[in-house]
This record gives sequence, C-alpha cells and structure tokens, in this order.
Amino acid sequence: MSSMSNTLRRSEQRGFNTLIGQDEVRQRLTEIMSEPGAVFLLITGAEGSGKRFVAGLAAKASLCGQPDEAGACNDCDACRLFNAGNHIDFDELKPDSKTLISTQTVRESIRDLNVMPQLGQRRVILINGNLLNEQGQNALLKSLETPPPFVTFIMTANSEQSLLPTIRSRAVKLTLTARSDEAMRDILKVHGVLDDDAVRRAVAYAYGNPARALMLASDKEYPHLREQALTIFFRLPDRTAADLLGDDLEVLKHYRDNTGTGLNDVFDVWSEQLRDALAAAVGADPVSAAEGERLSRFLHTIAGKRPAADRLERCQREINRVRRALAAYASVDTALAHILLFMRKELHA
Ligand SMILES: [Zn+2]
Repeated sequence: MSSMSNTLRRSEQRGFNTLIGQDEVRQRLTEIMSEPGAVFLLITGAEGSGKRFVAGLAAKASLCGQPDEAGACNDCDACRLFNAGNHIDFDELKPDSKTLISTQTVRESIRDLNVMPQLGQRRVILINGNLLNEQGQNALLKSLETPPPFVTFIMTANSEQSLLPTIRSRAVKLTLTARSDEAMRDILKVHGVLDDDAVRRAVAYAYGNPARALMLASDKEYPHLREQALTIFFRLPDRTAADLLGDDLEVLKHYRDNTGTGLNDVFDVWSEQLRDALAAAVGADPVSAAEGERLSRFLHTIAGKRPAADRLERCQREINRVRRALAAYASVDTALAHILLFMRKELHA
C-alpha cells in the first residue's frame, strides 16, 4: 500500500519535469546533478527566461535526501526545509545595494566554505552573477578553482560575457532559450492563466519569454499601450516636431510613472518593429510579422536615397542608449522628447 502511494507520488510532475519547453537543459540537469564532487553551474539566459526557477530546481535537487533522475523528491525533510526557505545548508549571496554584491559579502560567504553540510550531503551557494563586479568575481575565483567536494555553486547571469573568462571556464553551462508557442501555452496553463484572450495576447507578444508572458497575461492594459505605441511609431516619418512634442509626448507621459505597463513596454514595441523592419529592409525576411501591412507601408514611406537599414539601426541603438541612460536624464519627458525627435530625423520621408 505504502509503496503504491510512493510510486504515484514520485511519478507526478515535480523537479526537473516542471521545466517546460527546455528539454535539453532538463536532460543536462539530470546528468550534472547525478555526478559526485563539487559542481559549479552557470545558468544564462535573457531577463525573464527562468534562470532563477532553474537555479531553484538545481539547488533543491542538490540538497534533497532522496533525489532521482527528475531531481528533488519534494517530500523529504530537506525539500520541506528548502521550500520553506529554511534550509541551513543553502546560502544565497545577498546584494548590498540594488545592483551590487560587495566584495566584502563574497569574502564573508566563502570564508567558512570548508565547513561540512549540517543536514545532508551538500551545501549550495546561489549567486546572481549580474550583481558581481570584477573585484567580486575575483574574490570568488579561488573558491571556484578549489572547492570542497560537497559544495554546489549555482550562478545565474543574463549573459556570460559579463563574467571573467577565468570564471566562465570553470563552469558547467546551461543556457535558457526562447520557448515555443506550445510551451508558452503550457507554462501559462500551469500558472492558472486560462482566459483565451489573455493566453493569445501573452503568446503573441512575449516572444518565448515566460516572465514576460505572465506579465502580459495579467495586464489588460497592454493591448491599448501596444496600439498607442504602434500608432506613434508608424507615423513618425510624417509627423512634425510640434506633433511629436504635443500629442505624441502627451500619450507617452501617461506611461511614465506606471508601475505595470510602462515605458519599457513602449520601447519593447518600438524595438520589435525596428527589428522586423530591419529584417525586411535587408531582405532577410519578407514582411510577415504581426503588423505586416502597416510595416510595409512604413518601409515604403522611409525608402529613399539614404539606405533604410542604417537609419533603422541607428534608431535601435538610440533606443537602447536612452533606455540605459533613462535615470541620467533630468526628466523622463526630456528623454522621451529626445528619442521621438531622433527617430523622426532618421526616418523622415
Ligand atoms: Zn527531497
């Protein structure tokens, strides 16, 4: 009787099986976690691609008292303690400010690295690599080079380019990629998103990014924002400066202080259109995107003596620059006025 319920319990969706649409990563996790000795796992992928989720699966599998090929059992004392956030052999390096884990924190956390695990067989240390500067990475390096055999290091980072080559070369790497539409629908379902419109909206505009899909699914404002951003974008070539700084800026100001749908989504919509326009302009892709018809007209309007591709690329670079530097502008309105005028100048018919 008890072995029956045990079998049932262990076959249910848990551990690595809850990672949807990343079969290769799932397979690698099983292999990596079954190997003895120290582990340094580096999980990379775009913001919102699920790095933290995968790091949690790997951490729990390392600490679990009876792991199998699917990772943690989710049932033993270790798993329960981990789920409750109370596992004593699990340590996460906390940032000292919003953007940085100080070298001091790194040093303190690895000082007693040789202390044996207290509950099970392993200790796990989770590190957000995006928050480590060069000094912090260097402080960590020695521990990564000669780790005690019972330590699992798990590092997440948006890109491995931000990490020192000496760090990268030590790591076992897992890279999270964009999910298929089918996987996205499954992910939304698991998170209880069942409304057809919400699912369609999320799958269409999230480009395979789970966190973005979940944000979009819960955001009824998004279709409205998107339409406003598209309208402003597609008529850029024909607008006067006065139009831009009047009506268009007024519309954008509405999203300025919004904590939900906000300016980042506006910039995303513009970037997406620039990307599709650029692909069409260099003949890489026929115009087949969601906004095909409007995009074709737009490309026709900006076609002229100067090569369209260069102008589209300059717009994209400027959007990226303004996004990064938003905090440095005296006011967000100034930044918005700047990017509107910049794009108009580049795209003027
Ligand atoms: Zn367990």
